Amino acid sequence: MRVETHVLEPFASNLYVVVEEASREALIVDPGRFLSSLVERLVREAYRVKALVATHGHFDHVLEAGEYTTFFRQGLWLHQNDWPLVENMRTQLELFGMTDLEPLVYPNLTALTESHKFRIGGVEFLVLHTPGHSPGSVVLWSPGEKIAFTGDLLFRESIGRTDLPGGDPAAMRASLEVLFSMLPDETRIFPGHGPETTVAHEKQHNPFLRDLLIPGGS
Ligand SMILES: [Zn+2]
Ligand SMILES: [Zn+2]
Repeated sequence: MRVETHVLEPFASNLYVVVEEASREALIVDPGRFLSSLVERLVREAYRVKALVATHGHFDHVLEAGEYTTFFRQGLWLHQNDWPLVENMRTQLELFGMTDLEPLVYPNLTALTESHKFRIGGVEFLVLHTPGHSPGSVVLWSPGEKIAFTGDLLFRESIGRTDLPGGDPAAMRASLEVLFSMLPDETRIFPGHGPETTVAHEKQHNPFLRDLLIPGGS
């Protein structure tokens, strides 16, 4: 299994492609901009995209997701608490002064819940509902591969902001405590922005975790 990272304009959000070579299956996380060269390559290399998943509904993670849902003829998995963000994309774009951006086509949405599991080849991903940055933020976690996609909940040595509409600092604390109580130290973290990290590194070096109840933290 391999994780590809594509950094998107204009806010350097990370689009991830998880590919499993043996089964030729793939998963796309946070398809914020349409990358035609990526899509063409996946088709040429005979990958079957099994799911399109959004960690949350902010425009930098979902703006052009509709082009993926159209091309791959499947819905975008998004927690229902964040559906209003996608349905009111223009409001979001205005909030960030990005009124020159506009989705060509809106994505079909599929409700993502904690009971859903994604399977790519032999790899299973669990869904953790982790509100705080937004009401419908989720983490995708593969205990077997020891990797997690944390969206804008957790970054390398930082955390997501909670001052946007729908943000909730108390929920953020609770989500971080749940995350760190579940994920083993060696888990690799692929955040919504910035470089990869690990649970162990964050326990040692993330200043935003200091006041939280986190086992093994400093
Ligand atoms: Zn966000
Ligand atoms: Zn973001």
